[in-house]
Amino acid sequence: MSHSLSPEELKFYDRQIQLAQCGYKGQVRLKSSTVAVIGAGGLGCAALTALALTGVGHLIIFDFDHVNISNLHRQSLYRHHDIGQGKVKVAQSRLLELNPWIKITIIERALRRYADLELLQEADLIVDCTDRFSARANIAALCKDLQIPHAYASVSGTDGQVALFYPQGACFRCVFKHLPTGGVIQSCDQAGVIGVSPQMIGAMQAQIAVDYLLSDRPKSIKKSSLNLITTQSFKSYEMTIQQAKTCPLCSALAETKVESKVAAEPFPIPISVEEVQKRFGKTNRSEKQWQPIILDVRTQEERILGSIEGSIHYEATSLIECLEQADLTTLQEANRESYELLTQGDILVYCARGPRAEKVARALHIARQKLIAKNELTHTLRAQNEIYELVGGYSRWSEQAK
Ligand SMILES: [Zn+2]
Repeated sequence: MSHSLSPEELKFYDRQIQLAQCGYKGQVRLKSSTVAVIGAGGLGCAALTALALTGVGHLIIFDFDHVNISNLHRQSLYRHHDIGQGKVKVAQSRLLELNPWIKITIIERALRRYADLELLQEADLIVDCTDRFSARANIAALCKDLQIPHAYASVSGTDGQVALFYPQGACFRCVFKHLPTGGVIQSCDQAGVIGVSPQMIGAMQAQIAVDYLLSDRPKSIKKSSLNLITTQSFKSYEMTIQQAKTCPLCSALAETKVESKVAAEPFPIPISVEEVQKRFGKTNRSEKQWQPIILDVRTQEERILGSIEGSIHYEATSLIECLEQADLTTLQEANRESYELLTQGDILVYCARGPRAEKVARALHIARQKLIAKNELTHTLRAQNEIYELVGGYSRWSEQAK
């Protein structure tokens, strides 16, 4: 990436360069920056648009999802004719239309904490635009591993949160020490959202990112501020966040045992309906390449309304009870079916919209990790098999089938 600006770029950024806090030097600084944006949904579209137009030279975008009609009221990078397309591909071409002088790298899947370390080590900042707690915790851990600052935001209804966490200071997990189980905190897809709220919060998130990139980029600030915003009344409240001794990330770092303490946290892989259908070979199930155990965790009453072909049924509550309460030997004796679930290949869990599947997928993941720790799984299973949770659940699946 060039460290100077062409005559066209000088015209494009003219109003920004006029501003003392940016200037020519600041604009070049932005151009030589790399920012990874995780999630190209409501927050992501707003943050990406602002970061691209402001002139961040290299954007790395992660998202596993595809454009759906219910995204369009708030995710302004997408159009009706993009429905069914991978979000990152559409976002890349639209952002390059807005600013052709930047570079965009796209990754069409969820972020993976260890697998993506190398790719992200060049990033100056990671912007978290996801809407799931497990993803946010994963990003916070990765930012600690790489010692990269973390611009966090979230939206729920008309309320939002924005914070910048510095690598050697308080982090996301200092605030949220315990991850809520699936369904306790709902995403926009599950709880609903007014279109303007993620656009406002995403733009604020981009602002803190740009402020950081234009600054001297401190790493050792211990305190952070979590800004709580009500978009409806413009009220905001600033909370000071101190590094917590009981934080699972900061305390692990202090004892230099990052992996042993943090890696055990359960992070199943989110997967979109479109990706599953692609892997199944869409029209003809008999030709499908991918053959996971498909696990429906809805109630019997919900299942009567329809289900994914080939799925087995296990209600979420009773399966989680089996997985959590019994030790594995007892489970093997008492409940052969749930034990076998643990020891077979890939598992795809779904419910009506997502929260129960997230909860079950995490419980399965924890139980499988216990088996791995006890060396009770084969090497093949350990190396290759994953637990996936279907984002949007059967509701999204049946919409796609129409
Ligand atoms: Zn922490």
